[in-house]
Amino acid sequence: MDEKWVYHFEDGNTRMRDLLGGKGCDLAEMSNLGLPVPPGFTITTRACRRYLSAGGVFPEQMWAQIVAAMAALGKKTRRGFGNPAQPLLVSVRSGAKFSMPGMMDTVLNLGLNDETVAVMARATTPRHAWDAYRRLVQMFGNVVLKLDNALFENILSETIAGEGAACDADISAAGWERTTAQFKTLLRKETGQEFPQDPWQQLELAVRAVFDSWNAKRAVDYRRATGIPENLGTAVNIVTMVFGNIGWDSGSGVAFTRNPSTGEKSLFGEYLLNAQGEDVVSGARTPQKIETLKDSLPRAWEELVAVAGTLERHYREMQDIEFTIESGKLWMLQTRNGKRTAAAAVKIAVDMVREQLIEKETAVKRVMPAHIDQMLHPHFDEAACQAATPIARGLNASPGAAIGTVVFDADSAKEQAAESAAVILVRPETTPDDVHGMIAAKGILTQHGGATSHAAVVARQLGKPCVTGCESIRIDMQHRCFTANGRRIREGEIISINGTTGEVYDCEMPTVAPHFEDQADLQTLLAWADTVRRLEVWANADTPEQAALARRYGAQGIGLCRTEHMFLGDRTAQFQAAILAKDETEFQTILNDVLLPLQREDFIGIFNEMDGLPVIVRLFDPPLHEFLPAREVLVRELGAMEARGDTGTTYSRKQKILEIVNDMHECNPMLGLRGCRLGLMRPALNRMQVRAIFEAACACTRNGITVHPEVMIPLTSHRNELIHIQPLLKEIAESVMAAQGVRFRYKFGTMIELPRAALTADELAQEAAFFSFGTNDLTQMTYGISRDDAERKFLLHFVEKGILPENPFQTLDAQGVGVLVEMAVVKGRQTRPDLEVGVCGEHGGDPKSIHIFHRLGLDYVSCSPYRVPVARLAAAHAVLDEATPL
Ligand code: PEP
Ligand code: MG
Repeated sequence: MDEKWVYHFEDGNTRMRDLLGGKGCDLAEMSNLGLPVPPGFTITTRACRRYLSAGGVFPEQMWAQIVAAMAALGKKTRRGFGNPAQPLLVSVRSGAKFSMPGMMDTVLNLGLNDETVAVMARATTPRHAWDAYRRLVQMFGNVVLKLDNALFENILSETIAGEGAACDADISAAGWERTTAQFKTLLRKETGQEFPQDPWQQLELAVRAVFDSWNAKRAVDYRRATGIPENLGTAVNIVTMVFGNIGWDSGSGVAFTRNPSTGEKSLFGEYLLNAQGEDVVSGARTPQKIETLKDSLPRAWEELVAVAGTLERHYREMQDIEFTIESGKLWMLQTRNGKRTAAAAVKIAVDMVREQLIEKETAVKRVMPAHIDQMLHPHFDEAACQAATPIARGLNASPGAAIGTVVFDADSAKEQAAESAAVILVRPETTPDDVHGMIAAKGILTQHGGATSHAAVVARQLGKPCVTGCESIRIDMQHRCFTANGRRIREGEIISINGTTGEVYDCEMPTVAPHFEDQADLQTLLAWADTVRRLEVWANADTPEQAALARRYGAQGIGLCRTEHMFLGDRTAQFQAAILAKDETEFQTILNDVLLPLQREDFIGIFNEMDGLPVIVRLFDPPLHEFLPAREVLVRELGAMEARGDTGTTYSRKQKILEIVNDMHECNPMLGLRGCRLGLMRPALNRMQVRAIFEAACACTRNGITVHPEVMIPLTSHRNELIHIQPLLKEIAESVMAAQGVRFRYKFGTMIELPRAALTADELAQEAAFFSFGTNDLTQMTYGISRDDAERKFLLHFVEKGILPENPFQTLDAQGVGVLVEMAVVKGRQTRPDLEVGVCGEHGGDPKSIHIFHRLGLDYVSCSPYRVPVARLAAAHAVLDEATPL
C-alpha cells in the first residue's frame, strides 16, 4: 500500500507528534475535540525527511495526495483552489516536533492572483483583498525566492509616507494595490521571474520552501544550541485561511490560559482588532490586553474563554494559544503547552491538583529543580534584565542576585561590611584566606575558576550569589579596578551580579526577594515530593545558623559538619597558636583551654537546632599548613623587613613560622598529611574534638534535647587506620558519657573518599557503622585530577570540546566514580546489613547525581542548606522517573 504522506486534521491526534509535528498534531487534536479549527491537513515529517534525503524530490504519491486533500478542503469550504469564482485560500505553515520559534518558514494567502483578488475584493473589501495579496507577494518573495525582506520593507515605508499614514493599518485599498504592483516589479527585477499566477504552482513552491527551511542556517544553529536532533524534519500544515483583518468585528491574538508569570488562573494575552496574526507580534500597532475583548467582541470573548477551559481540561496543562476572529467568529490556529516562570510553574501545578485536573505526582514531576533554585534565591527582576546589557558573563556558580560596591580584597570586604556597606568581592580567584571577606560580601565575582572552584563551593555553602570564570574581565589589582567590555570599574563603584545566569551589570538592578516559609504553594508541592521520595535529604552545615536554616528547608539530619571551618575567621589566630606551639604539652594546653570550649559551644548550638535528628561531625580534615601563611608571602615579608633593617621580635616570630611552614611543606597536599592520617600522627586534635562533641551532646541531653551524634573519620584508605584510631576516640566518648551520667545513641563511621576505601569497603564496614561518600575527593582521586587546578587549567575546556561529557565535579561520573560507590555500598552492606550510607560531596545537591544515588540505594544525600528543597524534589523525581522511564 502507498505510504500516507498527508493527514487531514480529523485523522490525527496529539500522540502523533513525531509524524505530524507539534502544530499539526495539536490542530488535529483540537479539531477532533470539536473546537473551531479552520479545515486543513498536515504533510508528514517523514515526507520532509524523504524529500531532503532525495535532494529535493517529492516522495512518490505525495503530490497526488495533496491534490486530493485540497479537493476535500474545497468540498468542506464550498470553495475551490484555483477556482476564480469561489477561491479557496490557504496558509502553508511549518511545524516540527519541537517548537523552533520563528526559525522556519510560513506563507499566507496562497491562492490569490490577479483574478481572485478582484473576487475577494467584492466578497470582503478592496482594501482587505489587496492587503492580503501584497502580503502573499511579499512572503512568497522572501520565503520562496529568498529576497531580502528589507527590499519589501523599503517599499512599504514609502507607501506609508506617500499616504501620510501612521502605520500600515491606515493604508488605503489603492495604496495596497500600488504596493502589490511594486512588489511584483521587484520580484521580476531581482529574480527574472514573474509572481506565479497559478495557485498550484504557488502551493508547490511554498511546500518546497518550508521543507527546505529545515536546513536554513538559523534553524540548524538553533537546533545545535537547544539539542534538537538534526534528523527529525518538519511537517507542513496547509490550513484554510481565516482573516482577522476584514473589519472591526475581526481580529487576531495570542493568549495563555493562565498567567505565565504568576500562574494566576485567568486568560493572559493580547490581541488586535482588524489585524492578522503577525501584526500582533510585529509591534507595528500596540496590542490590547486580552480582557478588553470582553467589551469589544463579547461573543468571541465568551467563546475564547470556553475554548481555553476545554483545552486546559483536555490537556491538563496550561496552554499557549493563537486565534483569529473573522467577522465575529472565533478560529483556533494553534495550541501548545505554555512556557512559564518558576513561580508560575509551582502555582499552576498545585492549583491543577486542587482543581482535580492532575495527580500530586504529576504536579511534582512538572516542577523542575531549576524552578526551585530560582524561587529561593533573591533574583533580579526579569524584565529589567532583559532591558539591560551585561558588561560581562561568567559561570553561574551560585544562584541569586547581589548588588554592592566593588572591593578587591577580603579584609576591605570585611571592614566595609562592618560599616553596613553592601560589597561584592571581586578576586582573580578565592582561597581559604578570603573566606572572611566572602562571608562579609553580598556576592562574589572571580575572573578564574569553575563552577566547583573554591569560590563557587564556598559561595553555595554560604548561599551567596557567585559568578566564577568570568574570563572577559581584567582585574588590575595595582590600580584597584577591573575592565569589562570597554568599561573601567573602580573600587567603590556599584555592580550587580546574577549568580543564576552568570551575568554582571555595571548598575544597580532591581531585585525580588522570596521567602521560603511564605511560599505556601512551594511548601505544598515539596510536602507532596516528600511523600514520594525514598532518599532522605540531609544538609552540610557548620554552624547553628546553617543548621537552623537547613531544618527550615526540610533537612532530616546533618550529613557533614566540617569542623575545620570552625577555626576560620576570628579563630584562625588561636588555631595558629596551637599549630605553632613549641611542644606537644603547649599544643595540648591550647587545645584544651582555648579550642575545646569553642568547639563545645558550636556543637551545643548545632545539636539544639537539630533536636531529634542525626548530626554527622567530621573530624579535622585538611593539612595543618592550610591554616598558616603561604611560604612565598613569608619569604617576601621577611625580605622586606630585612631590607628595612627591621629584625626585631616580629621578624623572629615570622622566621619561626617560616621554619614550621618549610617543615610542613608538601608537594601534593591533597595526597598528603590530612584526614585520618593527620589524626593518627597527631591524635590530640581528634581527641579534643570528640570530647567537645560528647560534652556538648551530654549538656544538650540534660536540657531535654535528643541528640544523635555520629563521628566521621575522613580519608580512610585501610581498615587498620580505623583499627588504630577509632577505639581511642570511642573510649573518650564512653568516658565523657560515664563521667556525666548521660547516655544516648551514637555512631562512629568513615568517609569513603579514596578508591581503595571503596574497593575494601567490606573490611572498613567491620569497623565503621556508617559510610558517607565524599564524592569531591573520590572524584579527584579516581580521575587523578586536582579539582581546583584542573578547573582553572583544562577541565572546562574538556567539557566545552566534548572530551568529557560533563564536569565530573558537578555531576557524578556514573561509569567511573558511580561504579566505585555501588561497589562500596554492596560490599559494605554485605558485612553490615544495617550500614547507614549517604553522600556529602557537592554531588549530593545535584539533581542528576541524586538520580544515580537513588538507583544505588543510598539512604540519604547531604547538601548545602540552600539546596535541600531542590534535593527533596529531585529525590522525588528519581522515584517518578523510575516508574515512567522516558
Ligand atoms: C568530599 O571530599 O566530598 C567532602 C565532602 O570533603 P571535602 O569537600 O571537605 O574535601
Ligand atoms: Mg573530602
